[in-house]
Amino acid sequence: MEHVVPARIHQLRTIDPGEIRLVQLALPEEIEIAGKLYVIQDTMRPGTAFLAKPWGARTGKYRRRMYTRSNSACNAPRLLETLINHTHQDHADTSAWWQSEMANDWFEKEKTVDVRINLDQAERVAMVYENTMVCKPANLRLEDDGKWEEMQMVCVAFGTGITPFLSYVQYMAAKDFGQQGVRHGVRLTLVASVRHAGQLMLHEELLSLEKQFPQHFRYQPVLTRSWPDAWGYLKGRIVRVERGKSGGDHIDITPLQSLVPDLSQSHLRMCGNVMACRQLTLGLEQSGIIPLTVRAESW
Ligand SMILES: Cc1cc2nc3c(=O)[nH]c(=O)nc-3n(C[C@H](O)[C@H](O)[C@H](O)COP(=O)(O)OP(=O)(O)OC[C@H]3O[C@@H](n4cnc5c(N)ncnc54)[C@H](O)[C@@H]3O)c2cc1C
Repeated sequence: MEHVVPARIHQLRTIDPGEIRLVQLALPEEIEIAGKLYVIQDTMRPGTAFLAKPWGARTGKYRRRMYTRSNSACNAPRLLETLINHTHQDHADTSAWWQSEMANDWFEKEKTVDVRINLDQAERVAMVYENTMVCKPANLRLEDDGKWEEMQMVCVAFGTGITPFLSYVQYMAAKDFGQQGVRHGVRLTLVASVRHAGQLMLHEELLSLEKQFPQHFRYQPVLTRSWPDAWGYLKGRIVRVERGKSGGDHIDITPLQSLVPDLSQSHLRMCGNVMACRQLTLGLEQSGIIPLTVRAESW
C-alpha cells in the first residue's frame, strides 16, 4: 500500500512567468497513520526525485508526478524544493497547473500537495520516497560519500535540468566540497544553459558559491536565444546541429569544449530534455570524446 503525507506549499516563486517556477513543499514533523505516529525522516540523496500528487490543469484531477529535488536534505530537512517548467506539450497537465493562478490560490490558502513516503513500521519512521536508491547511467543519484570527493565532474544542465546539480552543489558545499586533510576534494563545473537571462535559476547563489569555493566549483551559465549587452559568458547553444546534405546530422560540440576542454578526463553528468541530451551524447560520439563516465537523466 502506498502512503502519502500532505505537504504545504511553502514557496511558489516565479522564475520566468508562465514558464518556470520554484516550488517548495514543507512536510510536517510527524504523521499519524492507522492510529500510529511516525516521525518523518528526510534522507533524500542529492540527484534523486520525490513523488508528489499535484493537480492536473487539463484532466482536472490529482496526478502522480516525479520532481527532482533542487535543495539538499542535509541543510533543509523536510523542505522539498524543485523547479518546474511548463512543457507546452499538447498533453501538458500538471506542468501547466504549477504555472497557473489556481496554484497561486493554493499557495495563498496554504493548501497541501500529497508527497509519497515509505513506512518503517518497526522503527515508527516515515521516509521520503526517492525514485532510485542505486546509481545507474540513467539516473543522477549522487555517488556515495567517499567516492564523489575524488571526482572531477562536468554537469551539463538544459533548462530545469539544473535541479539535480543544485542539490549536488548545496550538499557538497555543506561538506566543504569534500576536502579533508590531504584529500583535495571534488572539482565540479556546472554548465547551465537556458534561453534568456530571466530563466537563470539561483544565479546569484551559484556565483557566490563559485567565489567562496574557487578550487572546487566553476559555474558557467549559457544564454541561447538572447542576452544582455554586458553578458560575459557563452552566447548561443553549447551543442550545434549542422544538417548534412545527405540527411545525417553533424553535432558540433566545440562551444561546450571551449568551456570544458577536459571532458575526457571528467565524469560527465547531464540533465534536461530528451533531445538536448541525445544531441550532446551523439556529438561526443562523433568527436570521439569518451568521458570517464557518463550519466544522464531526461524527462
Ligand atoms: C525522475 C523524474 C524527475 C523529474 N523531475 C522534474 C523536475 O525537476 N522538474 C520538472 O519540471 N519536471 C520533472 N519531471 C517531469 C514531471 O514529472 C512531469 O512529467 C512534467 O512536469 C510534465 O507533467 P505534465 O503533467 O504536464 O505532463 P506529462 O507528465 O508529460 O503527461 C501528462 C499526461 O498525459 C499523458 N500523455 C503522455 N503523452 C500523451 C499524448 N501524446 N497525448 C495525450 N496524453 C499523453 C501522460 O500519460 C500523463 O498522464 C521529472 C520526471 C521524472 C521521471
